[in-house]
Amino acid sequence: MKRSSVQAQAQGGIPDRGSGSILRPSGETALIIDGRLAADRVLAEVRAEAAGLLQRGIQPGLATVLVGDDAASRVYVASKSKAAHACGFHSVQHDLAASASEADLLALVQQLNHDPAIHGILMQLPLPKAIDATRLIEAIAPEKDVDGFSPVNVGRIAIGETERAFVPCTPAGALLLIDEAAKALGRDLQGVEALVVGRSNIVGKPMAQLLLQRDATVTVAHSRTRDLPTLVGRADILVAAVGRPEMIRGEWVKPGAIVIDVGINRVPRDTAPGEPPKTRLVGDVGFAAALARAGAITPVPGGVGPMTIAMLMANTLSAGRRLAKV
Ligand code: NAP
Repeated sequence: MKRSSVQAQAQGGIPDRGSGSILRPSGETALIIDGRLAADRVLAEVRAEAAGLLQRGIQPGLATVLVGDDAASRVYVASKSKAAHACGFHSVQHDLAASASEADLLALVQQLNHDPAIHGILMQLPLPKAIDATRLIEAIAPEKDVDGFSPVNVGRIAIGETERAFVPCTPAGALLLIDEAAKALGRDLQGVEALVVGRSNIVGKPMAQLLLQRDATVTVAHSRTRDLPTLVGRADILVAAVGRPEMIRGEWVKPGAIVIDVGINRVPRDTAPGEPPKTRLVGDVGFAAALARAGAITPVPGGVGPMTIAMLMANTLSAGRRLAKV
């Protein structure tokens, strides 16, 4: 079976990428890693491959499940469904009330597991507190777990069987940006010091696994870590996934480092007197100071964020291929 370029990306492999760098000058020391451009390229490849599959009678199908009224979750699910349509996928959205029971959700997951038109199932997190999210994620068939959160996929990544796994979308996207930045800067990832700040199951831990598979020397920092500034100052690759606005000071960054800022934090914006309050998005790294030190850096917004949905589409395409055995 031929391994496509988007499959390689989604599985954390080194993609055979086409033309042009996704890095652009910032006017300062660091190059800007353009996540929107990278995501557009991934989506264009997914669309083209999906069109080829369709000619063979295979249409990848994505089912999204949204429980309750969380406004941010609703926006995320809507953009995932929109992207699935734009890729030419079959796309179904299941909206359940916040009062839905765990039994209702488990029944829906079982129905989707057995639905031949559905290749990927996305359970939007967080789920209402009354529902055991771990149990639900475990109920998703591993071959349809396009978020890569089920124990089977987590285990496959941990043992280096990445090609048979679904890699969680955010770290998969971050790895692609790291590969592109390393290529543009003429760096080899083997043996370099990589620091991942944050150890969540959806970002930090899988990110560390993926960097280990690139033969980087990986350190994982978390809320109990002592002396974060020293660790940051040693890192050739820094991935920040904390969720605290600009907590990693740009002045700590090692000169020339590749900085991937996963954090998305909304903070108040300066406004003129009498103007209504406004907000803006910032990452976990002090961007302005880091620009003067890093070799390459992702902006927030426009860095890792757009990659997450693109990698979800790449994973769904892979799921369609694998289930159709092509
Ligand atoms: P999370 O589950 O809340 O995990 C945050 C991690 O940061 C934890 O491991 C925590 O350590 C660590 N941490 C907290 N305070 C720290 C400190 N002072 N020093 C060092 N580490 C500290 O968050 P997440 O889901 O991984 O998300 C992280 C950020 O990425 C958030 O801003 C989120 O919005 C963003 N995100 C973006 C995307 C995207 O598409 N771009 C996707 C997912 C998440 P402990 O384990 O010790 O508590």
